[in-house]
Amino acid sequence: MARYLVTGGAGYVGSHVVLALLDRGDDVVVLDNFSTGHRAAVPDAAALVEADLADGRALAEVFAAWKFDAVFHMAALSLVGDSMRQPLHYIRTNLGNSLGLAEAAVRAGCKRFVLSSTAAVFGVPRILPIDEAAPREPVNPYGESKLMVEQGLAWAEGAHGLRSACLRYFNAAGADPAGRAGEDHTPETHLIPRTIMAAMGRVEPVTIFGTDYDTPDGTAMRDYVHVADLAAAHLAVLPRLEEGSVAYNLGNGAGHSVREVIAAVERVSGRAVPHTVGPRREGDPPVLVASSARIRAETGWLPRHDSLEEIVRTAWNWHAANPGGYAGRVAQAA
Ligand code: UDP
Repeated sequence: MARYLVTGGAGYVGSHVVLALLDRGDDVVVLDNFSTGHRAAVPDAAALVEADLADGRALAEVFAAWKFDAVFHMAALSLVGDSMRQPLHYIRTNLGNSLGLAEAAVRAGCKRFVLSSTAAVFGVPRILPIDEAAPREPVNPYGESKLMVEQGLAWAEGAHGLRSACLRYFNAAGADPAGRAGEDHTPETHLIPRTIMAAMGRVEPVTIFGTDYDTPDGTAMRDYVHVADLAAAHLAVLPRLEEGSVAYNLGNGAGHSVREVIAAVERVSGRAVPHTVGPRREGDPPVLVASSARIRAETGWLPRHDSLEEIVRTAWNWHAANPGGYAGRVAQAA
């Protein structure tokens, strides 16, 4: 049996990675400072360490207490808009914490490292779909911080034998099909959960950010990828690390517009989505679509929930069953 450390395991993508590991019988230690994650998102079967990654002593204790086959590093600041307002804070936190973690792993003899990276490392693409050869030219400090981490890890392979997999998520969406985990951000800024919450009447009407893009319906297009498929990719890359470090783009290879997302929520829910039209959001590229041909070819990874309808349905089910998010779950259990 293998044992893994998952930083940010109480967060959205992290909690789904934890479930995927537990489901196949692995041991999991979650490290989270709960700045955005939720205690109730961590299953009882996982060990939990509440600590900040900047706390070197706490990190050393974790690596002394357990021996890990790999580290999954999901803990990070991840909002593009915030990063534009606080670039130094974003870059220092994401870069410093990631490199500190990688150093601690190397010191403890753990040489496998899987990084949550992002499509934001590519900036505004010139060619679609975006494959791994596309130039990495971030247009915001969030993407810049992840690119810097990717580069640091690349240097660590030669010097320390640290094998890394940088997984560039496109738009993570949906929820655990079994209903055990889902998306719970405060405030919620992402399109799919906001649209669902607007349909449920829990937030004000959703605003479409820009209707003048050069796309078929004028709204921006994104590659929405199911969070359970993202989680599965983390497991799929582990054997590949035995040959060396890798970087993969993770999406479904299909773009969906903001209007298509609204229509999908209306179909799934049978309700109208109250919405308004507003200006473009600063820093938003018109279209982001991934080519995931490389990870498919090299690891056999295949998305299992690739229809927008299914992504939206699992998200809808999560929001319907958990009206107060994880906080509501705790209250229910009490
Ligand atoms: N979007 C929107 N209204 C919202 C939130 C998002 O029109 O209230 C658009 C946003 O401009 C982008 C897409 O939906 O084109 C996906 O945005 P999201 O914040 O979910 O993810 P991002 O692409 O920024 O990672």
